[in-house]
Amino acid sequence: MKILIIGAGPGGYETALLAAGRGIEVILVEASRVGGTCLNEGCIPTKSLCRNAQILDQLKDAGAFGITDLNYGFDFNAVLQRKNAVVDQLRSGVEGLLAHKNITLVQGKASFKDAHTVLVTRESSSVEYTADYIIIATGSVSAVLPVPGADLPGILTSREILDLHEVPGRLCVIGGGVIGLEFASVFRSFGSDVTVLEYCKEVLPHFDADLAKRLRSSLGKRGIEISTQSQVTAIAKNEEGYTISYMRKGKEESIDADKVLMAVGRKPNVFSLNLDDAGIGYGPRGIAVNENMQTNVPHIYAVGDINGRMMLAHAAVFQGIVALDHIMGMQNHVDLSVMPAAVFTSPEAAGVGMTEDECKEKGMKVRCLKSFFRANGKAVTMGETEGFCKLVVAEDGRVLGCHMFGPHSSDIIHEACAMISRHATVNEFASVIHVHPSLSEVLQSAIHSI
Ligand code: FAD
Repeated sequence: MKILIIGAGPGGYETALLAAGRGIEVILVEASRVGGTCLNEGCIPTKSLCRNAQILDQLKDAGAFGITDLNYGFDFNAVLQRKNAVVDQLRSGVEGLLAHKNITLVQGKASFKDAHTVLVTRESSSVEYTADYIIIATGSVSAVLPVPGADLPGILTSREILDLHEVPGRLCVIGGGVIGLEFASVFRSFGSDVTVLEYCKEVLPHFDADLAKRLRSSLGKRGIEISTQSQVTAIAKNEEGYTISYMRKGKEESIDADKVLMAVGRKPNVFSLNLDDAGIGYGPRGIAVNENMQTNVPHIYAVGDINGRMMLAHAAVFQGIVALDHIMGMQNHVDLSVMPAAVFTSPEAAGVGMTEDECKEKGMKVRCLKSFFRANGKAVTMGETEGFCKLVVAEDGRVLGCHMFGPHSSDIIHEACAMISRHATVNEFASVIHVHPSLSEVLQSAIHSI
């Protein structure tokens, strides 16, 4: 069997590695750098910056730990170099793995000639490839607000902001979703005055409302101005930077900033694939797929951001497993509905499963169990006591969701993922012994708050 995969982001390269490991001949086509958005301009570089931000925040707090004479400088250039080194190290790791598994990596831009033929173009020459199955994993690109001035030179997306040479004095972030808040948090730690303009009533619209509200207030305490219900109407250049105009509760307002980050979501990268000639169905939300990640053309699959289902790196990877299992006629055990998500702000936030509001909208009776990091021994010793953990529990005792913000939430959440994906009840959660003192005990405390 031969599979051709278009796009070497996490959806593409992880599926390629798995397929090759199962003895399948794989051709992987990549137009740019192996690793995709995630490794080159998404998850990894941003988390490298987050780590720098965390260290800076801890240094600011050093007095509380008895360090009284701390004189440090901040070299932003070194921060960028470290970020680039982290990305390079991980990319060469992936390249090494692909070579080790004998995967044919073809550099070039792929487009469909027909449903069975993919044309790969590099510079001015094109080569045709055919395969038994084709998996499209071409990811997504930043969306831009359709307002006057949005295309002004110097307006940043999440790609360009990673390569700024200096920390902006005043940064305006348009969009209070995950990407917007992560950059807001990082640049606040680096010293920028940050304003976030969010269209919705609350930041992080896809997260638990309680979590979003508390995280917004926590970021506010760190000096990040967050203006919700704010609809950006125009961006104009001024002498020093930009003026961003917006409507808030019927009133026209504006702010000035040196830099503007456009973080209003991402759109599936269907461009230039020539999907029509292959008869593949798609729309503004991406390529339409069924639960097996199969498009309307049975031998063509689409995984990751391109199908618009869940724009997360781990979602892309697990969708790839689902697609490959289906291609190979294997039984699949992945439950894509239990999909954790994290926000790498300071403090972090994470959630998995149903939110309280989702349950209410479905008319389900649930109760919520809560605990707070301020009562967690480990968090107190660390001096990181902000945050909470909330479990959403069904009438029959099953835990349906877990939502938290606080130190290391992106790690702690996995215990909840494991339990929720196994349909565990609160009593089953309660019987798992935890190390003391540990941050994970916050889950146990939530259960014992009954
Ligand atoms: P991508 O990673 O986008 O890879 C697609 C690849 O396809 C690219 O390499 C592209 O060059 C290639 N390609 C496109 N068109 C063609 C073509 N015609 N021919 C050949 N190749 C082509 N997710 C998380 O889970 N955790 C995070 O912390 C996180 N942080 C993020 C931070 C930022 C700033 C951004 C922008 C995203 C972040 N994400 C995060 C989202 C994550 O990066 C994506 O969900 C993930 O990269 C999607 O993987 P993918 O394989 O679908 O596509």
